[in-house]
Amino acid sequence: MAAPEADRGISPEALSEYCMDARLSGQGGKNMKKAVYPGSFDPVTYGHLDIIKRAAEIFDVLIVSVLNNKDKTPLFSVEERVKILKEATRDIPNVEVDSFSGLLINYASEKKLHIAVRGLRAITDFEYELQLAQMNRRLSNGSLDTMFLTTGLEYAYLSSSSVKEIAYFGGDISQCVPDFVAELIHEKYKPNQTG
Ligand code: ADP
Repeated sequence: MAAPEADRGISPEALSEYCMDARLSGQGGKNMKKAVYPGSFDPVTYGHLDIIKRAAEIFDVLIVSVLNNKDKTPLFSVEERVKILKEATRDIPNVEVDSFSGLLINYASEKKLHIAVRGLRAITDFEYELQLAQMNRRLSNGSLDTMFLTTGLEYAYLSSSSVKEIAYFGGDISQCVPDFVAELIHEKYKPNQTG
C-alpha cells in the first residue's frame, strides 16, 4: 500500500489503516512494542483468549506462537492449532499467529522479540513459570524478559487438558472454549466414543 499523502486530504480512517498495515508489516516499526505469547494451545481456551486480548491492548503487536513440543502427544497438530488460533483471534488486528520448535530464546532472538507473555492461574503455575522466566532471562543474557498477566477469575480453573478430559467423557465444554473449537474437539473424540 502506497503511503498516503496529507495534501490529498486523506481521511483519518485511511491514515489509521495505513499505520496499522505499516506496523504489522514491520515498516517504520522500530519503536513498536512487540511480544510473544508462547504455549501449547492444545487447544486454545477462553483463559488463553483472555490473556491474548489483554496483552494485545498493551503491545502494538502480539505474536501468539504455538510450541511444537515433540515430547507431548497433542490432540491437535501444530498446523491445526495455528489455524484454530487464527480463527479465534481474527477480530484482534494486532495479533499474529505463528509456531516454533526448540528453545523460546532462539525463536525470540531470530524474531527480535524481547518480551514473553505468560498467564498465571494459581500458585501452582507460579513455581514453574518463575523458573522458566528466570532460565529464559539467564540463557538469553537478559535479552528475553517475561511479563505475567494473572488470569481473569472466571477462567482460573481452565486448562486445555481439563477441557479435553471433560470432552472425552462427553461433558459440556461450551463455557471453556469458543463453539467452533468445542465442535472440533468433539470431532476428534467421536471415534473413541462411538467405538
Ligand atoms: P504450556 O504447555 O506451555 O503450559 P499452555 O497452552 O497450557 O502452554 O499455556 C500457555 C500459557 O497460558 C501459560 O502461561 C499458561 O499458564 C497460560 N494459561 C493457560 N490457561 C490459562 C487460563 N485459564 N488463564 C490464564 N492463563 C492461562
